[in-house]
Amino acid sequence: MIIQTERTLFKKDENADAVKAADGLIAKAAVSGASDIHIEPGENNACVRMRIDGVLYKEAEMNKTLMQAVVSRVKVLAGMDIAEKRLPQDGSIKLELDRRNIDLRISSLPTILGEKIVIRILDREKFALNLDELNFTPENLALYRRLYNYGSGIVLLTGPTGSGKTTTLYATLAELNSSERNIVTIEDPVEYRINGISQVAVNEKAGLTFASGLRSILRQDPDIIMLGEIRSLDTAATAIRAALTGHLVFSTLHTNNAAGAAVRLVDMGIEPFLVASALRGVVAQRLVRRICPHCKTAYAANAEEKAYLNINGGDGLTLYKGSGCEKCRGTGYLGRMALQEVMPVVPELKKFILGKAQEETLFAEAEKFGAVSMRSDGVQKVLKGHTSLEEVLQAVH
Ligand SMILES: [Zn+2]
Repeated sequence: MIIQTERTLFKKDENADAVKAADGLIAKAAVSGASDIHIEPGENNACVRMRIDGVLYKEAEMNKTLMQAVVSRVKVLAGMDIAEKRLPQDGSIKLELDRRNIDLRISSLPTILGEKIVIRILDREKFALNLDELNFTPENLALYRRLYNYGSGIVLLTGPTGSGKTTTLYATLAELNSSERNIVTIEDPVEYRINGISQVAVNEKAGLTFASGLRSILRQDPDIIMLGEIRSLDTAATAIRAALTGHLVFSTLHTNNAAGAAVRLVDMGIEPFLVASALRGVVAQRLVRRICPHCKTAYAANAEEKAYLNINGGDGLTLYKGSGCEKCRGTGYLGRMALQEVMPVVPELKKFILGKAQEETLFAEAEKFGAVSMRSDGVQKVLKGHTSLEEVLQAVH
């Protein structure tokens, strides 16, 4: 495959080997479902790695001359300055591969051994725009849907980068999308376009930030607002104000668990009574690898595994693992799925927020009203044979 964009169509510049190598890497990454490609200069050679299902794999090694040509090729395609090698740069490439629209975000970083390039692959077709396909248990999905059926207030999603928060948000907006509702988003970047929804991209250089964008959105009478991320007190305060004045607001925060989001808002400087009245609930999320269906095998759980899963007694317990095959590159895993923790802010929980309770206390109270911890959600998915105990342990701790 030779990638052609308006930037390269009329140029007969780079050498053929570099073009073939660069384009081949991009095509291979897209086909194997990789989320990013890392091209890293080493002391003597350069290393290319790809991240598949959240794990980095070494893909190839190349000499530094070829690597530099590959980097130049990528920078040309991305509209970056190939002469500038001492400062970090960003660029993007849009392409069509097997009739799929793929967006690539490229960033360069000058390391002491040369330029390191990371290519993020945003495959629009990969987003499942249906909440039913996001691995919520039926109980958690019902709990989650109740959070936003109030029609106003703020619903938060938490988890580290790459935990599938954006996918859940898009699926939620797709469900709420109708001609009677004015839905506006402000995102960094806009990863997926949904018809009927007004999406705004953050542009820090031009002064369009989450906070300033949100203030402009509020002047346009929205019903539902999706704010990509709450990073500052200013953004948090504006979002809470919007939630308290009849808008339904969705956003994300970086905390380890659902209860942590309520605590974080207070720590950021929002008055506890505002958090208690605006916050409808929180979903914490993590991605784990799914056992490969092609090499899935049953085995008898050992004592340690049974203890973790709280299954006591002498009866045998069957668990599953992937034994490794060609389809999963010998890893035993293919694709990923989400673990969730849904915490509705029921009236009984509000007084704990007002009293600045710690995360553990808050969540223990929430459990009385149906909240299920992420660990328990993971255990359920292990017992059903969807994922392994190792994956859950790694995601939860
Ligand atoms: Zn397999």
